Amino acid sequence: MQQRKMGYWYLAGTGLLWWLSLVGSPVWANQPVIDMHFHAWPYGADGPPDHPENIAVMNEMIDGLKNHNVVLATASGPQAFLERWSREAPERLLLGPVLPCEGGMNPNWYQYRCYENGAEFPDLAWLRAQYENGTYQVMGEIYTQYAGMSYADPRMDPYYELAQELGIPVAFHTHSAPPLTASRCCPNFRISFGDPMQLEEVMVKYPRLKVQIMHANPLVYPMLLDLMAQYPKVYVELSPFQRLLRREKFHRLLRAFKEAGVLSRVMFGTDGDDHGDAIEAYRSADFLSARELEGLLCKNAARFLRRRDACEASH
Ligand SMILES: [Zn+2]
Repeated sequence: MQQRKMGYWYLAGTGLLWWLSLVGSPVWANQPVIDMHFHAWPYGADGPPDHPENIAVMNEMIDGLKNHNVVLATASGPQAFLERWSREAPERLLLGPVLPCEGGMNPNWYQYRCYENGAEFPDLAWLRAQYENGTYQVMGEIYTQYAGMSYADPRMDPYYELAQELGIPVAFHTHSAPPLTASRCCPNFRISFGDPMQLEEVMVKYPRLKVQIMHANPLVYPMLLDLMAQYPKVYVELSPFQRLLRREKFHRLLRAFKEAGVLSRVMFGTDGDDHGDAIEAYRSADFLSARELEGLLCKNAARFLRRRDACEASH
């Protein structure tokens, strides 16, 4: 899902709120965090990454990573945005393409072409080169749902094959999207194509694929917990429910994973939310042990990404 960045940080105009948050929560401020749902794309205006409004939001978002000790963030977006944003924070961002892009554009409020050649799907040889030369490290957000395709659509096979061969994690958009998405941006968008159970076909066909289910919500899709039990390598990420749901209901969501015994495969993500607000949604869950919280905010993702030393880092 996407939404406009609210950005009270930026609007505050001073470091006062940040300073106050440090005074109130010194441990929280130092806790390393990995954000498994971050976007480098046009948040401010239609147009390229150097549009002044897009530059302003980029700076705000990257400051947010630094101020909350987000040591790694998996960032997806149009090719030109990934290139531009990674120049600002090369050590923090792991880059991944968005695909498919119906009409060649990212399916967000503001748009820009996903690939320099205007294609809906990245050229396979070009994409392989991006992974092999270290430019990209992850794949997705996968937007089959926005294009009215199932996850198992044969047009996706070459990309899954590539990701499985190279050990690249693949992150799938699931569940739903902001209201009236089909009439607002993406005429082929259907809720039915976001059912996470439909990922089972992909998992069976590509048993070594590293799958991340984005927007995972067992309160709506209880079978998700069976899927995680059946496929022990599947990890999930919970944005934007830390922002959309009442706090008590978000904690019920966390508790569902805990009671099912799969909390160690749940990862933190923001999808554009303020990092301080998002972290607090987890920290306020008093039924979590310190070790579980550390796993949710950093170590589970570090394991998934095979970057086990990432949570030791502090910038
Ligand atoms: Zn999404």
